Amino acid sequence: MKIKADYANAPQWKSMTIKSRLPEEMKCLDELAHNMWWAWNYEARNLFKSLDEKLYEEVGHNPVLLLERLSYDRKMALVKDKVVMKNINKVYTDFRTYMDVEPDKKRPSVAYFSMEYGLNQVLKIYSGGLGMLAGDYLKEASDSNVDMCAVGFLYRYGYFTQSLSMDGQQIAKYEAQNFSSLPIERQLDENGNPVVVDVPYLNYLVHAYIWRVNVGRIKLYLLDTDNEMNSEFDRPITHSLYGGDWENRLKQEILLGIGGILTLKKLGITKQIYHCNEGHAALCNLQRLCDYIDGGLSFNQAMELVRASSLYTVHTPVPAGHDYFDEPLFGKYMGGYPARLGITWDEFIGMGRQNPEDHNERFCMSIFACNTCQEVNGVSKLHGWVSQKMFASIWNGYYPEENHVGYVTNGVHFPTWTATEWRKLYDKYFAPNFMKDQSNEEIWHAIYDVSDEEIWKTRMALKEKLIKHIREKFTESWLKNQGDPSKVVSIMERINPNALMIGFCRRFATYKRAHLLFTDLDRLSKIVNDPEHPVLFFFSGKAHPADGAGQGLIKKIFEISQRPEFLGKIIFLEDYDMQLARRLVSGVDIWMNTPTRPLEASGTSGEKAEMNGVVNLSVLDGWWVEGYRENAGWALPQKRTYQNQEYQDQLDAATIYSLLENDIIPMYYKKNKKGYSENWIKVVKNSIATIAPHYTMKRQLDDYYTKFYTKEAKRFEKLAAKDYQLAKEIALWKETVAERWDGIHVVSKQTGLLEKGGETGVKYKMQYVIDEQGLDDAVGLELVTLKNEQSGDEREIFSIHPFEVVAHDGNNYTFEAVIEPDEAGAFRTCVRMYPKNKNLPHRQDFCYVKWLE
Ligand SMILES: *Cc1c(COP(=O)(O)O)cnc(C)c1O
Repeated sequence: MKIKADYANAPQWKSMTIKSRLPEEMKCLDELAHNMWWAWNYEARNLFKSLDEKLYEEVGHNPVLLLERLSYDRKMALVKDKVVMKNINKVYTDFRTYMDVEPDKKRPSVAYFSMEYGLNQVLKIYSGGLGMLAGDYLKEASDSNVDMCAVGFLYRYGYFTQSLSMDGQQIAKYEAQNFSSLPIERQLDENGNPVVVDVPYLNYLVHAYIWRVNVGRIKLYLLDTDNEMNSEFDRPITHSLYGGDWENRLKQEILLGIGGILTLKKLGITKQIYHCNEGHAALCNLQRLCDYIDGGLSFNQAMELVRASSLYTVHTPVPAGHDYFDEPLFGKYMGGYPARLGITWDEFIGMGRQNPEDHNERFCMSIFACNTCQEVNGVSKLHGWVSQKMFASIWNGYYPEENHVGYVTNGVHFPTWTATEWRKLYDKYFAPNFMKDQSNEEIWHAIYDVSDEEIWKTRMALKEKLIKHIREKFTESWLKNQGDPSKVVSIMERINPNALMIGFCRRFATYKRAHLLFTDLDRLSKIVNDPEHPVLFFFSGKAHPADGAGQGLIKKIFEISQRPEFLGKIIFLEDYDMQLARRLVSGVDIWMNTPTRPLEASGTSGEKAEMNGVVNLSVLDGWWVEGYRENAGWALPQKRTYQNQEYQDQLDAATIYSLLENDIIPMYYKKNKKGYSENWIKVVKNSIATIAPHYTMKRQLDDYYTKFYTKEAKRFEKLAAKDYQLAKEIALWKETVAERWDGIHVVSKQTGLLEKGGETGVKYKMQYVIDEQGLDDAVGLELVTLKNEQSGDEREIFSIHPFEVVAHDGNNYTFEAVIEPDEAGAFRTCVRMYPKNKNLPHRQDFCYVKWLE
């Protein structure tokens, strides 16, 4: 018999985890590592760093991974180190002191929903500004000790890491995250088993694990569908941020909104206010409607309650930025909901349409958000106005400036974005209550008491820190990717801390016009190559993998940066993330932003710069419209000179060049004997004293409470009292008005002024008698006057004059107004009738309008 040459069975691998054990004395480090508090506490970060500096760098400043990798011997050695142990105890005591306070119950509680959260570069669940805002918001909610929780996704691949090929092509790499090495914890039930939420998708369930991020005192729950309970079709729902096709996007939004509410229910959490950060989460209101209806309310009653307790924050200024879903796709997943809600399919999908009856319109998540949230807001004053116009067509009968869309200007979390060097300086000079009173400009004025020298020293230290960071982080990868080692070395050597350093770092979306600076390369070359007054530009940012134009821009800038005259003068830094952003917003001298107006809804990186004595040079768009102060930064003029974008770009570029040549560079280099420019320091101080105080996340959070949360919570409480009595009354009232609206009519009128015109200084009485169809004083009348001097569609609301009810006889109500014109000219006027009820939050809440003849 011939013997077989090989004979082996297959191994039955068993998964086995070895946990890295911490000595008893260091156990608290595990708790510290698993609370993101360290992300905004430099003492905690320094503590982790001190355990093993080299390893800390290797693990990308991730304390969980650090503890995992730290050898047991090293840990035992640390336990014997008195200095380290003392430090551990100090930081841990600080942490517990911070944590062990009861949440402030005076302010309403909030559940916050967002697709992304930028808490720290370690946790790759963010892509850009929207996520940064959400992350900063939770941190401030923690610091302000409000009662808030949040819902989002734990992405398997997160957002991509960026590298560039030798010719400047963006290479996007999606790396699977190892969840056990992240500062998160699995949500377990009382028996220690993972909690699973079952989310209905038409005829089956998707099962999601819940992970918890402890953001200081705030809990952020992340859903994760990448598990063996789900089919291959559904596991990718939480694979990547803004990845996949429209079907996956809809599945994500179902998970975030509907799954998000089911998660909170499963965990026994109820909050007073539900806040949708962007439209992505709007389906949370669908689940909430279902819950009220399951509890015995009608659809209309449920709507009153859901609307009263929700807020939608819009972040995009253009309709194309919203999510739209085709009817067949939407129906595939949402077809079961009309029956649950007790309405028809057309009524249901109509809640996501501008014109609910228009069958060609796709379902728009943002419109659904507008229709199910009592309040809507943009993210800067200008963007609030842009949003009023963008959504105006939802509320026919009112002009954009009349609708209820408001704004809260974005801010940034001070402890996260202010460099340690500045925090120490502020601690030294600012009033001790500063952190609790961050928006108080007077406190910030103490910056004027700091010597110019100390300011300059701080600035220089941060410039050098940035350069050191660049050398450490990029030398190796550039040597690998960019070929010619002598070129790489030469770039690194040329980075000169004494140069005027300018940063342009943000997503590469085309509207941000990263190309603007490169409009006239000869002029730019002269600027950067002046031997006496060198200037250095840093560019950084990712383009969405589907955005070819954005990637083209990166390539173009990279190519220019490789030309001999720009080598080491224009530098592209790959893989813009929070860590690099922190270095850049504190390390350059000027933060430049050149968006096409008004497409930058707010922007926040420039606000981060402010807290670090970095001065803004920006188009007057987004937050900078409000933020700019003279002698505290530079602004490109607000007015659009050309309709043609190319001409406008050329003009804006020329403005930037001449600002640099004539103002900025001469000022920066007018150095005194001590080596700094006194005028420059003045600008730095002005910008810290007068701009920074108004753009902290604390101010933003406070604004959300004063403008929206508190008001809504109060109204909701009224609606919900006594088994929802008032909600039921309002729903019934609206139903009755809706039914009789078309029958409400003018019985008689005296409108001489409208027919014949009038003169200034004379009083004219107008009168209408309206048959209210058995309703009791349910309508209001007002005379709307437009100024009509401009040609075409141009118009301006000149005045709105209310009528008063002066008598009533059965169904007939008599309305009167006395008008005394005080300005001559050509006007257009018409009388507007609307449903009137003091229990409505605003007119758009029940947007019936009839213009009377
Ligand atoms: C702050 C920040 C942003 C947002 O900056 P904008 O000014 O809004 O473009 C994007 N990405 C990162 C990494 C940031 O830190």
